[in-house]
Amino acid sequence: MTGVIFDIKRFAVHDGPGIRTTVFLKGCPLACWWCHNPEGIDPAVGAAPKTVRVGSKAFTESEAVGYEITPQQLVAELQKEQIFMDESGGGATFSGGEPLMQADFLAEALALCKKENMHTAVDTSGFAAWSALQKILPLTDLFLYDLKMMDDGCHRRYTGASNRVILENLAGLLKNGKRARIRIPMVPGATLTPENVGQTIAFLASLPAPVEGVDLLPYHNTAAHKYSRLKRDNALEALKPLPKEALLAVQRQFEAAGWSARIGG
Ligand code: SF4
Repeated sequence: MTGVIFDIKRFAVHDGPGIRTTVFLKGCPLACWWCHNPEGIDPAVGAAPKTVRVGSKAFTESEAVGYEITPQQLVAELQKEQIFMDESGGGATFSGGEPLMQADFLAEALALCKKENMHTAVDTSGFAAWSALQKILPLTDLFLYDLKMMDDGCHRRYTGASNRVILENLAGLLKNGKRARIRIPMVPGATLTPENVGQTIAFLASLPAPVEGVDLLPYHNTAAHKYSRLKRDNALEALKPLPKEALLAVQRQFEAAGWSARIGG
């Protein structure tokens, strides 16, 4: 079996506890306007132009976006940093794209990680069949679970899909005793509206068990160069990053509702 990944980030400190190695799996069924990893949306290995400058000359060549790898090869890569993971209480994080689009590959890689006593985290949009989640439930120590918008119409507009299965799957994970930390992109006018923040706080209170906390992920436009390189429309090109004060106000709202909230991952 092989999977398709597009990056491995070593020494990550925002993708779960401790020092982690984060693997980015290719393919995502959503199309969020603010996606920071647009190269991860297409499930197939692709190609994009890359420009290299030598002195005053520029050379453009085609570069592969993503590559195939077996679970065994991937876990051998992860083990290169295992000493740092173990010393820091870290581990391996599987992100994307949407890692559950390759549920069988993900499950096999997670099983190999557990065999090596690695802590495992899966960063998911939750937009997947419950049967896909079931494959990884016993192999995942922590879910980093993205919530975007509570209003289904808004969710469809900004991500291309309903939020129903996402909300149901989160409740299902918690019912099964799994640990989950919520991640919310802070996108002014979309996820960051008084209505959505209030509805998200109410939804968290309605869940069958508490989540571990909330990460508020500030929108920034550092992925702009990726959109132009991939020739993808960037709907939020002109959107400015949020002032810190606006983020602190949202953090205080979550804290006032009893949740541990932090800015950043
Ligand atoms: S769910 Fe994540 S990876 Fe998928 S489109 Fe949205 S932001 Fe991008």
